[in-house]
Amino acid sequence: MRATVIHGPNDIRVEEVPDATVRNPTDAVVRVVSACICGSDLWAYRGVAKREPGQRIGHEFLGVVEATGADVTSVRVGDLVVAPFVWSDGVCDFCREGLHTSCPHGGFWGSAGSDGGQGEAVRVPYADGTLVRLPAEAAGDERLLAAMLALSDVMSTGHHAALAARVRPGVTVAVVGDGAVGLCGVLAAKRLGAEQIIALGRHTARTDIARAFGATDVVAERGEAAIAAVRELTKGQGAHAVIEAVGTEQSMRTAISIARDGGAVGYVGVPHGGSAGVDIGQMFGRNVAVGGGVAPARAYIPELLADVLDGTIDPSPVFDRVVGLDEVPEGYRAMDERTALKVRIAF
Ligand SMILES: [Zn+2]
Repeated sequence: MRATVIHGPNDIRVEEVPDATVRNPTDAVVRVVSACICGSDLWAYRGVAKREPGQRIGHEFLGVVEATGADVTSVRVGDLVVAPFVWSDGVCDFCREGLHTSCPHGGFWGSAGSDGGQGEAVRVPYADGTLVRLPAEAAGDERLLAAMLALSDVMSTGHHAALAARVRPGVTVAVVGDGAVGLCGVLAAKRLGAEQIIALGRHTARTDIARAFGATDVVAERGEAAIAAVRELTKGQGAHAVIEAVGTEQSMRTAISIARDGGAVGYVGVPHGGSAGVDIGQMFGRNVAVGGGVAPARAYIPELLADVLDGTIDPSPVFDRVVGLDEVPEGYRAMDERTALKVRIAF
């Protein structure tokens, strides 16, 4: 089969690799129908996150079950399924608590020795604990497939940030980051009943999506000017809930600074650049909570899927380009250069 392989910084190739097969009785093999490139893949692409040359890449995919191990009971050959960006056993203490990302049997697609999502097929460990079945009639509906693919990471991550930021009906929310996760954070905040949603971003194509997702205000400024602009929009108080979806010191500093006293920051941007953005003194004096982290997407997919299927939310507009498998390296380039927001791979 063919799959995307990372050989080093800026060196993404599509190559022939060994076929995905059932190795353990709890495995399934999924033939990928739709996958995508994540903003977090760019950290590896840019060489900031280290990878062994030859590692697979990609952690968001949906597809059709092609084979199952003897112990798999929740999915059958032919089922349309989506995978969260981490696999998990579904039965341990952490999985039962909804923190599947801490599963001792869990792991990340594309880690050394495992298949990545940006390939023709994927061996799925712990298929019962990992995969979520999708309605068969969704096959062929490209918009719906795109919306459901977003559940594997960006929509679930935006939702996690909104929960960590304690979004609730009637509050003011600010979203730092105009990537796919930030935009999904807007959609999640709207879904949870936020009244005012301030999106920070300067790319019109992206802030237009933010507005379509429910943003009531857009702040194009950065740094101190952004902080002042958010305060201006919130009676000088700041936002009850702040979603941080970038992962830099600057974005974290901005997020904490625009939180209202007694408010909360939900951070889901993968941290790169240390923790200097976290001003404990400011958090103490103003009672600002900071929570979040890697999103247990598996815990959220069933609930969010129901809302995708009944039309309550549609995250599909975050995908603004579709490529075939052979054009994946071009897709990385486009996202790195920010000429594409999020690239979907159709097989
Ligand atoms: Zn577990």
